[in-house]
Amino acid sequence: MAVRQVITWGDPRLKNKNRDVEDWTPELDQLVADMFETTASQEGAGLAAPQVGINIRLAVVDVSSGADPAQKVVLINPEIIREEGEQIGEEGCLSIPGFTEVLKRPMKVWIKNRKPNGDWEELEAEELRARAFCHEIDHLHGRLFVEHLGPVKRNIIQRKYQKQRRD
Ligand SMILES: [Zn+2]
Repeated sequence: MAVRQVITWGDPRLKNKNRDVEDWTPELDQLVADMFETTASQEGAGLAAPQVGINIRLAVVDVSSGADPAQKVVLINPEIIREEGEQIGEEGCLSIPGFTEVLKRPMKVWIKNRKPNGDWEELEAEELRARAFCHEIDHLHGRLFVEHLGPVKRNIIQRKYQKQRRD
C-alpha cells in the first residue's frame, strides 16, 4: 500500500468527466488499498479516484479514518436513489486542505452501488457516512463541496485559499 498524492482545487482533473468502472482488475484493488491508506494518512473520511488524478467513478469512504476496518466502503459507479431528512454540519475536503464549511446534506441516503464482481448492491447510510457518500459522489460528478455554497461565500474561500497557496 502506498499513500498517493492528492491533487487540489484548481487542478482540471477534478472537473474532468469520470468514466464508469467496467472490468475489475488487480490494479483497481491496488488503487483502492492506496486510497484507503491515503485517506487514513490525512485523517479524512473518504477519497475519490479523480482526487488522485484518475478519472473513473470510484471512491472510498472510511468515517473512522483507518481506525476500524469494518467502516471501509468502496463505491463503484454509485448512484443516489433516495434521500431523506437533512443534517447541517462541518465539511472539508482533502483537495481543499485547511478549509471547512458548514453545509446542509441529507440525513439518510440510499445508494445503488456496483461490487467488484459486477453485481449491484443497495447501501444505506446516515449521519456522517451519508455526508461522506454525498461528498464523494459529488467528486465523481466533478463537483467540490464549496460549489454548494453561495457565490459570495465561495469567493471569499477561494481568495483565502489562493492566498494560502501563494504564501
Ligand atoms: Zn473531497
